[in-house]
Amino acid sequence: MSNAFDVIIAGGGVMGCATATYLLRAEPALKVAVIERDPTYARSSTVLSDGNTRLQFNLKENIQMSLYGLEVLGRFGDDLAVDGEQPDPGFRQQGNLFLIDADSETESREGLALQQALGCDVAWLEPGEIAERFPYASLDGCVGATFGRLDGTMSPYAVLQAYRRKAAALGAQFIQAEVGAITHADGRATGTRLATGEALQAGAVLNATGPWAARLAATAGIALPVRPIKRQVFIVDTDLRPEWILPAFFFPSGLYCIHEGEGRFMFGKSSTGSGSSAAGRVCMRSIRWTEMPSWASGPRSRACIWRMAFPGTAFNSATRWGGICPS
Ligand SMILES: Cc1cc2nc3c(=O)[nH]c(=O)nc-3n(C[C@H](O)[C@H](O)[C@H](O)COP(=O)(O)OP(=O)(O)OC[C@H]3O[C@@H](n4cnc5c(N)ncnc54)[C@H](O)[C@@H]3O)c2cc1C
Repeated sequence: MSNAFDVIIAGGGVMGCATATYLLRAEPALKVAVIERDPTYARSSTVLSDGNTRLQFNLKENIQMSLYGLEVLGRFGDDLAVDGEQPDPGFRQQGNLFLIDADSETESREGLALQQALGCDVAWLEPGEIAERFPYASLDGCVGATFGRLDGTMSPYAVLQAYRRKAAALGAQFIQAEVGAITHADGRATGTRLATGEALQAGAVLNATGPWAARLAATAGIALPVRPIKRQVFIVDTDLRPEWILPAFFFPSGLYCIHEGEGRFMFGKSSTGSGSSAAGRVCMRSIRWTEMPSWASGPRSRACIWRMAFPGTAFNSATRWGGICPS
């Protein structure tokens, strides 16, 4: 294996693989290496994520990126086909419903005006309309909602694998290794040093190590303001059997709920700060009791999978709890 590349991408999650794909599409002669330490992606944000995309942001750039994302998803199969095989990102546009309380109304209406000015299909719903169209949303303290019809959820694993396969087909070299440091001279990156001590040279290095990006950047003397935030996700099996897939509900507290199908709902929320898994469990209990809708926290509901992701640690559990109880 040659140790010299035009571009080294540290981290082979969705950002690393997508960047390799688009770089090689723009310039097929480039020698691109993607260095990923764990091909199972067990702790990568990409595969732990909920795969939801939305137009409902308050920042113009975020809205524009999401509009572009919808274009990409619209032609995903054609664009990322390899040997005639079209990948399916599993994109389901069930819509996102953001429930608004009095504290967030002004900000939400400002965001809505910006989204609509940029041509997004997002509408304001009064509480009566919400109750009529989406009877399962809990409306405590709700002054209205914004509904983005085109928002939806995809399979992050399928999207990652599609980019990884396409990048490899375009000539990217995937290396399974841990990048120990970014080497540099005169203020420019010169390559990477692997944890094994092996040196690889490159004209440019992309740090795509996600939650670990600040740690790797520090090896080049760069203080990167990237701070991982722990998020907890769990799936609840309920007695509810809606006739259609409900939109994803986003509550004012930050708790969200995505209908998986039949009676299964995924709940998630980011917590503030990091912490041990034990601290996380306590936090999760308080989430489900204070904010979950009654149909999801009744005595016959069962939380069956709990997932937690935060810097350097991810926890997956298939423990079946005896109902959602406060202790
Ligand atoms: C629970 C959860 C839910 C989420 N839900 C959503 C959502 O609904 N919508 C949304 O848009 N975003 C969501 N996100 C965020 C989204 O997942 C991330 O923004 C995205 O996946 C980041 O991709 P990435 O490639 O930068 O990072 P990652 O997927 O974490 O990839 C980084 C890779 O770098 C590798 N790596 C790290 N250090 C090294 C090293 N030194 N050497 C070699 N390899 C290294 C890791 O193994 C990893 O595979 C969610 C995140 C989480 C945790």
